[in-house]
Amino acid sequence: MRLRNIKGAKEAIAASPYVVQEPEKYRGRWNEFFGNHHPLHIEIGMGKGKFITALAQQHPEINYIGIELYESVLIRAVAKRESIGECTNLTFLRYGAEHLEAVFAPLEVARIYLNFSDPWPKERHARRRLTSSEFLARYRRFLQPDGQIEFKTDNQTLFDFSIEQAEQMGWQLAQITRDLHHSPYMEGNLMTEYEERFSAMGNPIYRLVAFPPEK
Ligand code: SAM
Repeated sequence: MRLRNIKGAKEAIAASPYVVQEPEKYRGRWNEFFGNHHPLHIEIGMGKGKFITALAQQHPEINYIGIELYESVLIRAVAKRESIGECTNLTFLRYGAEHLEAVFAPLEVARIYLNFSDPWPKERHARRRLTSSEFLARYRRFLQPDGQIEFKTDNQTLFDFSIEQAEQMGWQLAQITRDLHHSPYMEGNLMTEYEERFSAMGNPIYRLVAFPPEK
């Protein structure tokens, strides 16, 4: 999702109190940033931020960081964040998933949400998929051993690819469903922007949970 040329987005994000400008400074110290020792959950590729904003409001006992590559999209999440007022357990980064080891120290993250990640359908782009073995190896370096990834998509090919990559890398899979909205895992499910759109079109939603391999 890239919204073209939103005028002033770059400047607004640079000035926003809801976006951490030099997140590398907090590597290994996110507990100091939030001022507590609550678990840290992150969403990579959060888009306009509906999902993580709702989660943060529901769970003040968890710290949340929403990560988005494009300013033109992040600006929408910032606007949403501004509209909800007090919410001390949520912040955003404009950052690329491939560089997150510069932001999170080993064992710092308890949970990663990947929602409707870009499918990169061409085989030659497979390594860019956020569930490729390269990305799983990166996540493992900062995810706690008892942490987890929660992944949702409407793309069957990406889902099958993700299962294959996770199994190859020794991750344990659980709660696999190929029709989340008609499954027991629907209870407590918070819909993302893309999930609302695709499920309204009648597309089934795929979901899995993955636990990292033992070291
Ligand atoms: N998660 C949202 C949802 O479910 O509504 C947005 C899904 S959208 C298809 C994928 C999002 O991931 C886009 O906003 C895109 O800019 C972001 N994204 C893609 N590659 C990324 C990367 N390497 N690092 C961070 N964000 C990325």
